[in-house]
Amino acid sequence: MAVEELLVGGTVLPITRWGEPVMHAPTRPVTEFGAELHDLVRDMFATMEAARGVGLAATQVGIDLALFVYDCPDADDVPHRGVFCNPVVTLPEGDGRNLDSIEEGCLSLPGAYQPLARVDKATCTGQDVDGNPITVVGTGLLARCLQHETDHLGGTVFGDRLSTRLRRKLYQQAEELAHLYPADWPVSPKADSAAGRPADSASE
Ligand code: ZN
Repeated sequence: MAVEELLVGGTVLPITRWGEPVMHAPTRPVTEFGAELHDLVRDMFATMEAARGVGLAATQVGIDLALFVYDCPDADDVPHRGVFCNPVVTLPEGDGRNLDSIEEGCLSLPGAYQPLARVDKATCTGQDVDGNPITVVGTGLLARCLQHETDHLGGTVFGDRLSTRLRRKLYQQAEELAHLYPADWPVSPKADSAAGRPADSASE
């Protein structure tokens, strides 16, 4: 099934926040590639779009399955969109391994960003929404996104990768902005605030 067919007809779901058990536990592999999975993917695309994210893992809508969707530019600003089931990320070693430290955010801790060093190129292998094998090589923000989403499916959030000091700042920032995000966000929209982040900040 073409990804384009999964971009319509979805229902926006509330985004699960850090602290909920599903966010901090490994997921089950996807084994059924039928209509039920396709419906979940439709809802995930609709939810990611409503939240203006570049990636969304199934755990972020409360489902413990190894699956994520993404709509994210690479280092050359070329947009990439797709679905990964049962993803595995491999990172280059040696000469091809470069770290890039930019601000990272997560839709499950909305509004908060801290710099995190990640490898700037990632190869992700897995299956598409019909179970066919796929491989995507991501650079720039897409490399970061593939790592961030695959982390989610193992129960790791990016705050787990920060120093204690930056994690404390991250939570402080999230707390200050929490009043802008209704409990069922993005079903109910974010409140307007002049203090909000610029629209070009990416969250995953
Ligand atoms: Zn996230």
